[in-house]
Amino acid sequence: TLFDTFGISPEIVKALTSLRYFHPTAVQEAVIPLALEKQDVIVESQTGSGKTVAFGIPLCEQAEWEENKPQALILVPTRELALQIKDDLMNIGRLKRIKVTAVFGKSSFKTQKSELKQKSHIVVGTPGRVLEHLKEGTLVVDKVSSLVLDEADEMLNMGFIEQVEDVINYLPKERQTMLFSATMSPQIDQLASFYMSADRASVR
Ligand code: AMP
Repeated sequence: TLFDTFGISPEIVKALTSLRYFHPTAVQEAVIPLALEKQDVIVESQTGSGKTVAFGIPLCEQAEWEENKPQALILVPTRELALQIKDDLMNIGRLKRIKVTAVFGKSSFKTQKSELKQKSHIVVGTPGRVLEHLKEGTLVVDKVSSLVLDEADEMLNMGFIEQVEDVINYLPKERQTMLFSATMSPQIDQLASFYMSADRASVR
């Protein structure tokens, strides 16, 4: 299989080729078609499975450059993961000039605020700092139509559940939610049943 079978735009396929991604991984093959149709999906997958590209391609494909407000939000447990995802998504979206902003704690709020004021198609961040930006009105989410919860098990282990829920409650109800987790648990199921569509797909 090749990436051009998904019906994604030539700019994205070209970017993938220059990243030397020629064939989708199993998780990408399963997730990309569902995500492109804006379906909710729960994915049980480890780091190394290619999960970042699995949600990165659909988010970059769906992002409209002309829209200045963020169209996708990705919640992650750590700053390192936020920066890694920002990097990966900027590479995938390079030829579409997709802008990705990373926000996380223990780092200048003011700098992030001015970054968010610029064109920012996709925002990736840790729950606490994302919530602060929402409360301050420095992150506007009325155009967000996709939410990704990445390493959801880690976010729960780190005690971020309340902040994750507070963030979700700011988002438009009409949206796609994708949840990625290395492990499944009753807590993850509960999160999914509260915040995801009843006919969500499961991939593992
Ligand atoms: P992840 O599971 O997102 O942490 O990705 C694991 C690694 O696989 C990353 O270093 C990616 O750059 C790489 N990768 C992702 N998708 C592909 C692909 N289709 N072909 C080759 N490498 C990939």
